[in-house]
Amino acid sequence: MIKPEAVAAGHTGKIIDMIISNGYRILALKYTRLSQEEAGVFYAVHKERPFYGELVDYMASGPIYAAILEKDNAVEDYRKLIGATDPAQAEEGTIRKRFAESKAKNAAHGSDSDANAEIEGNFFFSGRERF
Ligand code: GDP
Repeated sequence: MIKPEAVAAGHTGKIIDMIISNGYRILALKYTRLSQEEAGVFYAVHKERPFYGELVDYMASGPIYAAILEKDNAVEDYRKLIGATDPAQAEEGTIRKRFAESKAKNAAHGSDSDANAEIEGNFFFSGRERF
């Protein structure tokens, strides 16, 4: 996902360009907005964390782009491309270093495993929305 503050700030094109130029194929792409309830379901794994409520409010605060990306070693390489959760810790040239506002408003989401990538892809896309 490209998160709400990065979309609102007009960074979508540059972020998608970084993704494509790093060798990813976009299988599916959607401009949409999560309701509070949907954001709560999407981030249910973080339910016990103290920032869960803030995270849900933030992710429902405006439209996002959701995508399914394909590449060898996609999960690990994409997490390197987005960089550390906190942009202050992220390496130069990463998406979060360039575009994140803060640890909370950090521009991009990436799945943390192949299994979660499948669950998260199914959350946003039907079979006929993938190519
Ligand atoms: P990620 O895998 O790098 O996205 O990081 P995590 O899985 O640890 O956290 C999920 C998301 O929760 C992050 O991308 C942030 O948007 C948000 N988040 C993480 N830490 C904090 C925090 O301390 N406060 C708030 N408000 N949000 C946070």
